[in-house]
Amino acid sequence: RPVIWWIRRDLRLRDNPALSAAVATGAPVIPLYIHDPLDEALGAAPKFRLGLGLARFATTLKGVGSRLILRRGDALEVLEQVLSETGAARVIWSRAYDPQAISRDTQIKERLKALDIEAKSTGGHLLFEPWTVATKAGGAFKVYTPFWKAVRDRSVAPLSDRPASLRAPAAWPQSAELETFAMDAAMHRGADIVAQHCRVGEDLALDQLDLFLEERAATYKTDRDFPARAATSELSENLAWGEISPHRLWHRGLAAQDAGTPGAEHFLKEVVWREFAYHLMFQSPGILTRNWRPEWDAFAWDETGGQALSRWQKGQTGYDFVDAAMRELYVTGKMHNRARMITASFLTKHLMLHWKLGLNWFADCLVDWDPAANALGWQWVAGSGPDAAPFFRIFNPDGQRDKFDPKGSYVRQWLAEGQAAPPQTALDFFAAAPQSWGLSASANRCEPMIGLKEGRERALLAYENRKSAQ
Ligand code: FAD
Repeated sequence: RPVIWWIRRDLRLRDNPALSAAVATGAPVIPLYIHDPLDEALGAAPKFRLGLGLARFATTLKGVGSRLILRRGDALEVLEQVLSETGAARVIWSRAYDPQAISRDTQIKERLKALDIEAKSTGGHLLFEPWTVATKAGGAFKVYTPFWKAVRDRSVAPLSDRPASLRAPAAWPQSAELETFAMDAAMHRGADIVAQHCRVGEDLALDQLDLFLEERAATYKTDRDFPARAATSELSENLAWGEISPHRLWHRGLAAQDAGTPGAEHFLKEVVWREFAYHLMFQSPGILTRNWRPEWDAFAWDETGGQALSRWQKGQTGYDFVDAAMRELYVTGKMHNRARMITASFLTKHLMLHWKLGLNWFADCLVDWDPAANALGWQWVAGSGPDAAPFFRIFNPDGQRDKFDPKGSYVRQWLAEGQAAPPQTALDFFAAAPQSWGLSASANRCEPMIGLKEGRERALLAYENRKSAQ
């Protein structure tokens, strides 16, 4: 009797414990993706990117003599249907850690067990399962550095190669066509342009890791803050959809460290930031929706957004570093980490808009959208999160530009206005933006929407008021 491998955020053949467990049964394997309500609810760019990943993975599976079966609907109902159609006796999947997925998966596990179907979930999305890392007192780590110290010497599951072939069932169940899921339907922007910037699939992710370790890791620590330099791994989109395992980054990073590569340890530390974010989300799921520090509930965040939010989203704040970054995000589905921090600081501090408004926009635009890293990033910048940057440390976007984009290369790459011959990347924003935004590449740069000093002083005053209100 076949085994169903329920594919979720693990679009890879290597280092995949769920797939290994399915293969180890010796039974025919049915790879199944279910476009369920949780995936229907994804933001525009993540859903689009998932669609690209699924299309590529279908081809990958053909290469090992298998198929990707696609279905749409409630996950439990679909699983029950496929189980009865195929006579499968087991379902295996790779764990998810966000509260909605946990609640769905728990119900499914119980129901399948009641039906006498073996239901097994495995690790694979994280290096360490959240319940295996605890402080001496037995609680969850709330500060990064002790977390890093607690995990850096732990052993991590070894890597596994791709199976040469997957045993096919005698008859395949029917599959929907991917196009019918319309995963690009919410891309009211140049989907083709965003697609050009994506690096889709396991093979390209592995090549990218090689390139990073050979050409970038040595200078990673010093260059990683400069958005115009190709200095980081750019693997976050592949990690988000499981096209590469964190284990591979870990083992290859350790090998580079042993070989004396200067930036390797710093890279491992960033990979552990991802773990930290997941462990926090698992222990305190409220981090996704609420101020992690409740004292921030008394802060005068503007939750309505309005014109100010819209100008920030469109890259029309009048601050070139912020605007360049917001346009890069819209056109590519990506944004450099330094730029994420600066745009988030501008929104939450100079504009005093609630971090949730920014978090939601990122969740709609990022092809590497990850619930845990996004929430931690926003709450970290806003000051409301665990181990957060102090609120009074307000980034000056012009000062940050002078420091991290001293030649203006990043700004020129993304801002067309004021350039006699803007590069295609900057023009692409105007091609991708909806007409209703009424933007034109030949318009003048807009005036700053708020003075830097004025915005800073307003934010600091609100901060003092919040403290005295406690
Ligand atoms: P590298 O520098 O090469 O780092 C390697 C890997 O480590 C990354 O791919 C990523 O998985 C992990 N990592 C690095 N920095 C962080 C970090 N600060 N937090 C958590 N993990 C990290 N990252 C996402 O993957 N998805 C998000 O939705 C997301 N939203 C963010 C929102 C804000 C406001 C901020 C400040 C940061 C956010 N990040 C998010 C973290 C970070 O910006 C990206 O992971 C990074 O820019 C990805 O580029 P890279 O793959 O070249 O990273």
